[in-house]
Amino acid sequence: MQVISLKSELSDLLDGLRKSGKKIGFVPTMGALHQGHLSLMKICRKNNDVAVASIFVNPTQFNDKNDLKNYPRMPDVDLKLLKSAGCDIVFSPEVEEMYPEPDTRVFEFGNLGEVMEGSHRPGHFNGVAQIVSKLFDCVMPDNAYFGEKDFQQLAIIKQLVRNNNLPINIVSCPIIRENDGLAMSSRNLLLGKNERLNAPLIHQVLTKAVSLQNQYSVAGLNKWVIDQINANEFLNVEYFEIVDDVELMQINDWNEKSNKVGCIAVKAGNIRLIDNIRFN
Ligand code: AMP
Repeated sequence: MQVISLKSELSDLLDGLRKSGKKIGFVPTMGALHQGHLSLMKICRKNNDVAVASIFVNPTQFNDKNDLKNYPRMPDVDLKLLKSAGCDIVFSPEVEEMYPEPDTRVFEFGNLGEVMEGSHRPGHFNGVAQIVSKLFDCVMPDNAYFGEKDFQQLAIIKQLVRNNNLPINIVSCPIIRENDGLAMSSRNLLLGKNERLNAPLIHQVLTKAVSLQNQYSVAGLNKWVIDQINANEFLNVEYFEIVDDVELMQINDWNEKSNKVGCIAVKAGNIRLIDNIRFN
């Protein structure tokens, strides 16, 4: 496994491989890797000739300076894990390499960028679009792998690819969970003891909500979910919304035709957790 920190070196290497007909798969990450990330890498490994990962904690997508400062970083462990998952090339640049000057580009995603995470984390998706477009420019993958854990991010990336006519196939990968149901996340490492013990309630309540779908209106179920989680002293719901899985428009009636997904953000102490579940 090769570890590269310069864009030019990465592009040169991949240009050569592409010219010799190799299919390139790409898994962008911010490191502090867990089985969720590795599941993406395993799918990437299986379906491509060359499996590339990036590790880069992207400053422009953090709207909270403390979150950026405290974000877990463990590069040595990450490299071992990527190697064991079959990764061929790791791109791990410094901030100056990706942002030699400030990136002033503004990306437009309409409703997709405004709801849920968009309204609670101003500027977040613009930062995501900035870094993903820069990474796509360097790697130019045939296939790029993203987790459904970050459901709205996935929708944004698909839109980014459509808006710019990029010849990249975006592959969505299922959420990987801990044994107790908590969605794996690098931020889980930062949870306090009580918050970690209580965080699995999020998935428990979402799962129960799916089974109660026929007994409540959409608004009624929405309130039920929020009340159940907020009743726990260590958890506080930031939002819960049931939306269609393409445009992320709010669902008002279960009879609407679209596929429905419930997306949630919960504060567990100072740590913000997101998760989602499908309703049909
Ligand atoms: P991150 O390092 O948090 O930016 O995540 C990198 C990629 O891994 C993103 O596409 C995430 O959606 C994906 N990912 C993170 N956690 C999980 C999980 N629990 N299951 C599946 N994919 C995940």
